[in-house]
Amino acid sequence: MFDVAVIGAGPGGSTAARYLAKKGYEVCLIDKDKFPRDKPCGGGFSTHLVDEFPYLKRREKDFLKGVCRVGVLHSPNRKTVMRGRVDMAVALRTDFDNVLFESAVDEGATSLAGHRAKSIDISPNGAVVNLGDGSTVTARTLVGADGVTSMVARSTGLNTRWSSGSVTACRVAEIPTKSSFVEDLYTEDREYHFFANLGGLPGYGWIFPKLDTINVGLGIVGNHARGLPMYFDSFVKLLKSEGYITREADLRGVKGALLPTGGPISKSYSNNCLLVGDSAGMVNPITGGGIAYAMSAGKLAAGVLGECLDQGTLDETALSLYQRIWMQQFGTEIKSQLLIQKIFTGPLASTLFEIGARDSSLQDTVSEMMSEASRGRNDVMKLLGRFLYVCLREAMSF
Ligand SMILES: Cc1cc2nc3c(=O)[nH]c(=O)nc-3n(C[C@H](O)[C@H](O)[C@H](O)COP(=O)(O)OP(=O)(O)OC[C@H]3O[C@@H](n4cnc5c(N)ncnc54)[C@H](O)[C@@H]3O)c2cc1C
Repeated sequence: MFDVAVIGAGPGGSTAARYLAKKGYEVCLIDKDKFPRDKPCGGGFSTHLVDEFPYLKRREKDFLKGVCRVGVLHSPNRKTVMRGRVDMAVALRTDFDNVLFESAVDEGATSLAGHRAKSIDISPNGAVVNLGDGSTVTARTLVGADGVTSMVARSTGLNTRWSSGSVTACRVAEIPTKSSFVEDLYTEDREYHFFANLGGLPGYGWIFPKLDTINVGLGIVGNHARGLPMYFDSFVKLLKSEGYITREADLRGVKGALLPTGGPISKSYSNNCLLVGDSAGMVNPITGGGIAYAMSAGKLAAGVLGECLDQGTLDETALSLYQRIWMQQFGTEIKSQLLIQKIFTGPLASTLFEIGARDSSLQDTVSEMMSEASRGRNDVMKLLGRFLYVCLREAMSF
């Protein structure tokens, strides 16, 4: 019997498995796919991530595809641009997730990659995971890290379904591009772009230039996303006509995926089970960024499970500590981001951009938020406060 069975080896699951294995617990890491595997994503994250997870530093050459240094935010009516100097690391998820997966296995986690978890049975004595090939895995406790369509969240009743307004439907392509072209077009600063509420729809398009690919994507909030493939095609046409990608850009690799952007679920623990990452809705609703949150949650889950395993109590009262800690560390901040998302996807968005474009301090704060560099509730408050100040300043012309 394992101490912990982790279901899903994305950033959340691999991080939880790594920290648990490092502490000497018997952990298995189950994923339906064999690694390396791809995951539809922009692949952008704060350069500070390696400070929080220092073991990534020595593997940087295996995943880092450059650092984008200037963020450019285009207003919904395309008349205004905000620009700010904030570093964002970029990677291919195939490489990045493989490094995380290997880090867990190197610390002693048992790999069960290539095995789909079909169902789970949880009892006071522990948990049984029924795998696709008919075999079973038993463990004292579970971590559900199986992403936005989490079977573990459904089976435990922690999240039976997302409402259509709480997910964002995305199309994304990693377009192979000559590195000289990337440099010519996106400059030495490798400018990365966000296009807010394209076509008046809530969501955004993005361009993340990498070493020899350009990542292009479009996300639209679920209840407005009917026709997404058509909107994506129009976005690509626009990018071609404005020279952001070449007319011959190879878009055969375009993929669709969902992202939970309606804020975290209200409860992320039950008897013998914790949820981390997308399965619990731990995503920045403004940017769609969830890699860092999933990894932080994985690390916190490992800490709480370690204590509970040592004490021999894995019921939901003991595991509720996990919810308290992650809510304190970043859950409240996601709720504030939700407020900003609602304001910026509303009818006043273009006006807010025009105000923002006249204030360099506001531009810096917005760029930080878009680049994932900002992880604090204070930044959301700073942004709202500065908007208010600029509005008042303009109204009173001082
Ligand atoms: C289009 C798009 C662009 C994005 N861009 C960014 C970005 O630029 N930066 C950023 O920070 N975030 C971005 N995100 C969000 C980010 O991808 C997620 O927040 C992050 O991957 C969450 O990690 P996770 O470990 O919770 O889940 P995932 O990364 O989704 O991993 C879940 C794992 O579980 C496995 N799995 C699922 N079901 C089962 C099962 N039944 N049995 C076994 N295994 C299973 C899957 O194979 C997968 O490996 C983007 C998301 C999308 C969709």
